[in-house]
Amino acid sequence: MGGDCGRELGRIRQMNLSLRRKMTVAAAKVAGVDALLVTHLPDVRYLCGFTGSSGALVLLGGRAVLFTDGRYTAQARVEAQGTRVVIATKPAVLAACEWIEAAGVSACGFDATQTTVAGLEAMRKVVSAKVRRRLFRPVEALVAALREVKDADEIALMRKAAELGCGLFSGMLTYLDAGLTEVAVAAELEHAARLAGAEGMSFETIVASGARSALPHGRATMLKLPKRGFVTLDFGVVLGGYCSDMTRTVHLGRALPGEREVYDSVLEAQMAAVGAVAPGVTAGEVDEAARSVLRRDGLDKYFSHSTGHGVGLEIHEGPRIAAKQKQVLKQGMVITIEPGVYIPDKFGIRIEDMVQVTATGGEVLTPSVKAWIEL
Ligand code: ZN
Ligand code: ZN
Repeated sequence: MGGDCGRELGRIRQMNLSLRRKMTVAAAKVAGVDALLVTHLPDVRYLCGFTGSSGALVLLGGRAVLFTDGRYTAQARVEAQGTRVVIATKPAVLAACEWIEAAGVSACGFDATQTTVAGLEAMRKVVSAKVRRRLFRPVEALVAALREVKDADEIALMRKAAELGCGLFSGMLTYLDAGLTEVAVAAELEHAARLAGAEGMSFETIVASGARSALPHGRATMLKLPKRGFVTLDFGVVLGGYCSDMTRTVHLGRALPGEREVYDSVLEAQMAAVGAVAPGVTAGEVDEAARSVLRRDGLDKYFSHSTGHGVGLEIHEGPRIAAKQKQVLKQGMVITIEPGVYIPDKFGIRIEDMVQVTATGGEVLTPSVKAWIEL
């Protein structure tokens, strides 16, 4: 990358971060607070670019101050450009609280979903008695709500992460074989992911074979893949901090009567839900599009989880794509669509794609084939 191009990208990144902070400050104002203390690390990263494992960010009007510790002095200055960095000698969040009081803030919001009772007590203890009871106010998860809608840069990264995942799946099609342990399959996949440039896996890779495929979250075990039966692979990679998430279910050997029909039903349900994705549609409507196909085929009682979830810096974000959810989809959201059927002690099938909500509908970001595969 040439120096000019790198500088240009850096400038765009700074504009994105400063826009996110402006939107957060506006949301905090609506919530009735004049400052916001951000402690959830993915939120900190989203707002200032800092990727360290210890940090607290304060937004006060146009000011952004990041508190971290001595391990991150150099990293914070590089990553959190446009944000003042304070290297604290006490826990970052407590240093932030002292600064908030000294800055004369009268009401500082904190994310109640990310703060423990003990954490709040420590925050109150570190400020003076006269402000202790009123300074910190619980607010909704304002940053999490903003993070649901991705900007173009985020979507570009997630598209790359999803494509990397699809490449890994293709590789697995020539690797999978009866007699390999589930753990060996997971290890091979994760090894290939790192070599392909993944920073890590989005979550613990799921490899569930034979009757274990009926466990929606079957971790890889030392069990061997059967000569005849389903194998479910559910995995994701992290790229530029962003997660991918995909599931494919393939069949080893010849299928038993009826198995293919169940697969096709799950596939039709998955495609119906993908087809229902559009701005203005509720999450519950997307869920129902999948569920109604399985209901028609008498399989809905085996579909024991929700249809999908938002994904981004974290593997599970809003919105929840679940029955009766009223939340309306917006352009720029990236969600998963992952219906499944799990017949206890027999087999399970799940198919999962990442889908971007576009101006007019949904675009699948996971180009891997999802038609029936028999190996
Ligand atoms: Zn998944
Ligand atoms: Zn998922």
